[in-house]
Amino acid sequence: MRMESRRFGQGGPDVPVIGQGTWKMERDAPAEAVAALRRGLELGLTHVDTAEMYGMGEVEELLAKALEGRRDQVFLVSKVLPQNASFAGTVKSCESSLRRLGTDRLDCYLLHWPGPHPFGETLRAFQQLQQEGKIRSYGVSNFSVEEMEDAVGLAGPGKIACNQVLYHLQDREIEQALVARCQALGVAVVGYSPFAGGDFPSPGSAGGKALKAVAKERGVTPYAVALRFLLRDEGTFVIPKASSVKHVEENAAAGDLRLSAEELEKIDAAFSRG
Ligand code: NAP
Repeated sequence: MRMESRRFGQGGPDVPVIGQGTWKMERDAPAEAVAALRRGLELGLTHVDTAEMYGMGEVEELLAKALEGRRDQVFLVSKVLPQNASFAGTVKSCESSLRRLGTDRLDCYLLHWPGPHPFGETLRAFQQLQQEGKIRSYGVSNFSVEEMEDAVGLAGPGKIACNQVLYHLQDREIEQALVARCQALGVAVVGYSPFAGGDFPSPGSAGGKALKAVAKERGVTPYAVALRFLLRDEGTFVIPKASSVKHVEENAAAGDLRLSAEELEKIDAAFSRG
């Protein structure tokens, strides 16, 4: 199995198209979650997404265990909460995340969603953290087209590495304008909750049947087919969360899966574009 990689933002490194999410992982059995994350790394799912918000820091601490001895393989992303995203607050949050994660740098640091502090202030902190080598790049999350254009205007071209946004088969709103605009601006689109947070199309629904038919033909699960469909635009990435080795292995199978135009059309037709 070969995991496909794509350029992460303008001038960024190549990053695997399928990563690993960690939201709510503090609720999972810790040993199983660590084993799943480590299996994911072995299979090339080395884009690992977390946030200071997840389990109020507990998930970053759990991740430190999964990353032990493997930090250099990983493209590690964390996020500052909007209420903490003043200049001083962003610096402090980043340093706390680094401490919990047991590392000296993040590969990308994101503002979790737009909040009370002017983005220019957060940006200044991102720039300082980058100069100090504490973050390699920075980006945003849950930014609309307008918010992103403003952010790129402030940061300058090619500086905002990504916009992490909701994207799954039952919510394809970003296809209307955001994906194309991000691509034009050289901003990677990272789709979160690619399985709708577990509310996956039921096998009996029209969408579920379409996914199942393609999956059967290709010898993968409907989950892998869904991931590959969400990756059909250049410049997009997905970060499914899975806390079992079995799920991670199924998801990794989408890494080298390629769907034909006919298969893509079949899935496209079964889900509303929103
Ligand atoms: P998700 O990835 O859409 O779905 C996760 C659910 O799908 C879990 O219940 C998981 O079960 C299940 N699952 C995974 N692989 C499966 C498989 N092959 N077969 C059957 N079930 C499978 O949900 P998400 O956690 O909301 O989103 C993914 C990540 O995106 C988050 O973890 C987080 O890192 C990020 N995120 C970011 C934001 C933001 O505002 N920036 C918001 C939401 C999420 P198990 O755990 O039992 O394996």
